[in-house]
Amino acid sequence: MHEKKNTILVVEDEPQIQKMLGILLDVENFKIAESSSGKQAIRMCASIKPDLILLDLGLPDMDGKEVVTAIREWSQVPIIVLSARADDEEITIALNMGANDYVTKPFNVEVLLARINAALRTSAVREAGEPELRNGALRMDLVRHETFLNDKQVAFTPKEYDLLRYFMVNRGKMLTHKEILKAVWGAAHGDDTTYLRVYIGQIREKIEKNPKMPAFIITEAGIGYRMEVIPVTSAQAA
Ligand code: CA
Repeated sequence: MHEKKNTILVVEDEPQIQKMLGILLDVENFKIAESSSGKQAIRMCASIKPDLILLDLGLPDMDGKEVVTAIREWSQVPIIVLSARADDEEITIALNMGANDYVTKPFNVEVLLARINAALRTSAVREAGEPELRNGALRMDLVRHETFLNDKQVAFTPKEYDLLRYFMVNRGKMLTHKEILKAVWGAAHGDDTTYLRVYIGQIREKIEKNPKMPAFIITEAGIGYRMEVIPVTSAQAA
């Protein structure tokens, strides 16, 4: 057993779910901190500096979305929102306010753990500030502005390149249409979702084995897109 490394702050007011998450995360060797209210969670985020936050959106003292906004004023800690139902609008707002991902309750344990690990990996990547981005068979050389799929160079237009880089930097993270459009095309284009669909289609034609069943950039209906985190094999890393 490796030592416990990452601290997860679990913000949840339902004792049964809090307890279940505590047991689950302990088994996975995470350190756990618990809060049952929004105000306490914000204080704890500042004092214990967790590596990740699991945040229930329905809290007794304040809206979970406000907790995201408050924490984002000073911290980029990954936040995964727990939502009681598949409420697209609530989730979209929380993501636009700076949450990294979401899981709907009742959640699948494996999915929750996968999302936690993906969010932790992504935040580690961002801190490292690599000159090269890798995801499975895909590699972007950020210095030379070159992209390779299975070591074969693939040509992209400048906008396609910017869009793909944004997905690579944020891989594993759920990105809303608005977030992507603002980051790649600028604030004035926040609603041009047709643009986005066209460009995603072009990128898929170039990187996906089967563009109709994409493995890299996944569509999250009604919300946005996510680039899956795909392991780099030892042959690819060499
Ligand atoms: Ca609740």
